[in-house]
Amino acid sequence: MSIRPKKYGVIGNPIGHSRSPLIHQTFALQTGISLTYSAILAPLEGFTATVNRFRTEGGLGLNVTVPFKHEAFAYCTDRSERALQAGAVNTLIFSEDPQAPARGDNTDGVGLMRDLTYHGIELTGKRILLLGAGGAARGVLGPLVAAHPASILVANRNGETAGQLIRDFGVGAKPQGTVSLSACALADFPLDGVAFDLIINATSASLSGECPALPNTVLQGHTIAYDMAYGSVPTVFMDWASAKGARALDGLGMLVEQAAESFYLWHGVYPQTEQVRARLRAELHSS
Ligand code: NDP
Repeated sequence: MSIRPKKYGVIGNPIGHSRSPLIHQTFALQTGISLTYSAILAPLEGFTATVNRFRTEGGLGLNVTVPFKHEAFAYCTDRSERALQAGAVNTLIFSEDPQAPARGDNTDGVGLMRDLTYHGIELTGKRILLLGAGGAARGVLGPLVAAHPASILVANRNGETAGQLIRDFGVGAKPQGTVSLSACALADFPLDGVAFDLIINATSASLSGECPALPNTVLQGHTIAYDMAYGSVPTVFMDWASAKGARALDGLGMLVEQAAESFYLWHGVYPQTEQVRARLRAELHSS
């Protein structure tokens, strides 16, 4: 008797560019787990219907990407602490009963933190600039605060959204400690002339070949400029930072590490990420 492989996938719009199927299929081979993992395009107004259909077809878990992370949060009735802190869900966990409540988690934050550790980046006492206030920024703010930097400034094109993010984050018992948390609009960026130790680009500007407008004083030679984008690198943001002598990194490692955490949530086994990092990196260089 053959056992049917377990069914997983990633849902988004667009979704054709996603590397998640390759990553999860490689993890599955590595750990000997039998599964299918497909990229699912949901209509912009059809997230819930698409998820429900996937579940009735036996789906046990979904990764969620742009633009559905907030809808995925609303879809769940059972949410992890990380999902609650982020207000966004990138991993849905289902039981075999398609009517049963779905559990939602957010692995973006742990993915970023593991990649920063991989690159030997220490955050204690550092000045961090977080660009963007969308789903990705929401997912990483909590873990960044928990790493005890001296300060985090959230700067977003829409300053209201940046302010809302830190206000939302301030509600409830969050481990803020002595971290100074502030927000501004990119257009009102403070010109105090002090460079940041780490600048994280969590905007989607790189996807359209743009770079958030910032004064040159935000970085110096010691600054690390981290772009969460990973498809077409180096991005304009990375080039801008490199030209000023800063170390520029892309989000490929974060992508692999957040996937590894989702894999662990679904299968209870933590895959090795080095092999997948190397394979994706080689693909990027050859394309
Ligand atoms: P959202 O759509 O939720 O948020 C987009 C953010 O980008 C908003 O803050 C928006 O500002 C800002 N933005 C968009 N265009 C511009 C621009 N031209 N200039 C300045 N700011 C801009 O997207 P996500 O937060 O989910 O994703 C953001 C990025 O992070 C994407 O590139 C995504 O691929 C990447 N990502 C990478 C991951 C990884 O594992 N490496 C994981 C998750 C995300 P406003 O509010 O003003 O509209």
